Amino acid sequence: MADIHMGESETFAFQAEINQLLSLIINTFYSNKEIFLRELISNASDALDKIRFESLTDKSKLDAQPELFIRILPDKVNKTLAIIDSGVGMTKADLVNNLGTIARSGTKEFMEALQAGADVSMIGQFGVGFYSAYLVAEKVVATTKHNDDEQYVWESQAGGSFTVTKDVNGEPLGRGTKITLFLKDDQLEYLEERRIKDLVKKHSEFISYPIYLWTEKTTEKEISDDEDEEVKKEEGDVEDVDENKDKKKKKKIKEVTHEWQLINKQKPIWLRKPEEIAKEEYCSFYKSLTNDWEDPLHWKHFSVEGQLEFKAILFVPKRAPFDLFDTSKKLNNIKLYVRRVFIMDNCEELIPEYLGFIKGVVDSDDLPLNISREMLQQNKILKVIRKNIVKKCIEMFFEIAENKEDYNKFYEAFSKNLKLGIHEDSQNRAKLADLLRYYSTKSGDELTSLKDYVTRMKEGQKDIYYITGESKKAVENSPFLERLKKKGYEVLFMVDAIDEYAVGQLKEYDGKKLVAATKEGLKLEETEEEKQKKEEKKKSFENLCKVIKDVLGDKVEKVVVSDRIVDSPCVLVTGEYGWTANMERIMKAQALRDNSMSAYMSSKKTMEINPDNGIMEELRKRAEVDKNDKSVKDLVLLLFETALLTSGFSLDDPNTFAARIHRMLKLGLSIDEDETAGEDAEMPALEESNEESKMEEVD
Ligand code: ADP
Ligand code: MG
Repeated sequence: MADIHMGESETFAFQAEINQLLSLIINTFYSNKEIFLRELISNASDALDKIRFESLTDKSKLDAQPELFIRILPDKVNKTLAIIDSGVGMTKADLVNNLGTIARSGTKEFMEALQAGADVSMIGQFGVGFYSAYLVAEKVVATTKHNDDEQYVWESQAGGSFTVTKDVNGEPLGRGTKITLFLKDDQLEYLEERRIKDLVKKHSEFISYPIYLWTEKTTEKEISDDEDEEVKKEEGDVEDVDENKDKKKKKKIKEVTHEWQLINKQKPIWLRKPEEIAKEEYCSFYKSLTNDWEDPLHWKHFSVEGQLEFKAILFVPKRAPFDLFDTSKKLNNIKLYVRRVFIMDNCEELIPEYLGFIKGVVDSDDLPLNISREMLQQNKILKVIRKNIVKKCIEMFFEIAENKEDYNKFYEAFSKNLKLGIHEDSQNRAKLADLLRYYSTKSGDELTSLKDYVTRMKEGQKDIYYITGESKKAVENSPFLERLKKKGYEVLFMVDAIDEYAVGQLKEYDGKKLVAATKEGLKLEETEEEKQKKEEKKKSFENLCKVIKDVLGDKVEKVVVSDRIVDSPCVLVTGEYGWTANMERIMKAQALRDNSMSAYMSSKKTMEINPDNGIMEELRKRAEVDKNDKSVKDLVLLLFETALLTSGFSLDDPNTFAARIHRMLKLGLSIDEDETAGEDAEMPALEESNEESKMEEVD
């Protein structure tokens, strides 16, 4: 540096990786060069955040320059663009370290990402955004003044080195940094007012400091003849006065003025009054916040006042993200601000996991600005904010529920989240239960709420009945529903895997117990007469129950006379506190399940037999005559296996089941057993029994 106004220059070599990065930026063609402005404005904003934060404890830190601003100064004559901020500035040591000699951890990663096809606009995420200046500039000069040091100038044309010089006679900044870009000849578009304004709007709309642009204004000013003449007289030019008398009555002149024009709306949208914000503004804010291309489904803009104050805007998207339940990627879309200063993305403590699909901003007046992630976990203020956010989210869902079409969309996308909430959020469980919707034996094609279910409950009906299973189709004709249907009791179809977990926690709604139609302990109201009849039946079937239990052995826990089936011969019910058949299916599908747990929880099955069913009656008679009747044994096994299927379990050994069915078919078709080869020797034959009539019943 040969500038006589400067002090002694010191030359520094760029750290090797930074040097590599600079060559990459300079020598590779990137179409998205415009992002340099966003990066420099973001650095200015960061520097302003720092001095604002320092001033919170020491006001005098602002003395050298009380105003906090960002200024953009294009200079067409010198082909330079300067970004000036009144932020914290850099000491000489900062300059040397931050802008060149100390490698950022992201430098290498960013270069690798670039080579793997990443867009150059991601540079900011890797902590090397400053160097994006070289996308458009051949030389960069950073002039800076920190409260603790003199004003210094950093300068580099890349090429391996930079210089740092004490700025002895330069224009004093007071405090802050001025980054001057000497633009490449093909990058002069960045001197155009329109281009700069558009860029700021596009990339820096939510910067919370005023951004001013040095603008040129040309105004036409009318001056009268007299004035003009006077001017001319003064100049000693008195020619042609008479000749041009008519023409020169009035005269227009152009006047060029300059001013710092504010080009961003720095008032964040969440600080404005909701009634003054247009729908479109919320939508565009949402889009800029989330990169979603669709409008949000719903939003809530609110402030909480009192002993704790914060403002927030929460959005419900229209669709669930494809990775909603990808546990490796923590979804969290709430940005935390403290007194308009951006603190962090993805603040996990702000919102529970089940509401991870909610997007938005929260701006707290009470949290300390220097709050760290560690502090957040203990923070009481944050706990209160979180509680409020959950409350508002649930309010928002109820608002969506007022419009059926919207709610269907919402429910399709996020019902799993609500159910996860039922499972996890004991405090809001009851409220969330009101948001649940199910198909039922009476709902037809529409979903029903629990509230509506209750209004339809029959006289004398105490409990809410449900059945879990793989699909609506799989449960709607289940034998478990026979008696309930006959009594006119509605049964909810819970066919989402997560329903099992949710209902396990919910247990009751509106003081009514939620009862699984497939579990033990289903007690239905009955008359004295019914009771007596049942007792009699029970007695007469006692022997058959024992015989069946002997045949099935450990396959079932016990065999009892049922009062839940009307048509089917038998069903397999599970213990009140164990897994249902559906849960067993879900757990089997989970590759990494804990086997000891499944042995403990997996369904202890009780076979319930229907005394009114013809097959059972026939079996009873045969068992009475001969406990060891072979046909009884084979039929019991077949009934058991069929019941496994109709009760929602899977068959451990489908081949044996198939062989049994085939044998029955042969009997039905009167094909002689001996004529076929390869029979399973274990299979007892059914010769002596009244095969044909039995086949009809089995069918
Ligand atoms: P990052 O912003 O992610 O830290 P950058 O490459 O954009 O990475 O900036 C590097 C560092 O240079 C910043 O961390 C900061 O210390 C310093 N810096 C850059 N611009 C300014 C500025 N306008 N005022 C003060 N310091 C700055
Ligand atoms: Mg940066």
